[in-house]
Amino acid sequence: MQLLCRVFGHKPDKTRVWNDNIDFRAPCVRCGAAMLRDERKSWRLFDEETDGASSRKQNRRDIGNGL
Ligand SMILES: [Zn+2]
Repeated sequence: MQLLCRVFGHKPDKTRVWNDNIDFRAPCVRCGAAMLRDERKSWRLFDEETDGASSRKQNRRDIGNGL
């Protein structure tokens, strides 16, 4: 994780937003971490354990989803 991400949090790359059938997703613009826009319309890290669902599409541009 980059220092800026550690200090300010991850920043979603708005030019690379995509929809996985459930939520909007985007990689962090700095480190590429997979992010998800939750129901409160705030971005957070995508957690494969709690957010992983078979109905979600995978995206090969999404770095670090462990699959
Ligand atoms: Zn980041």
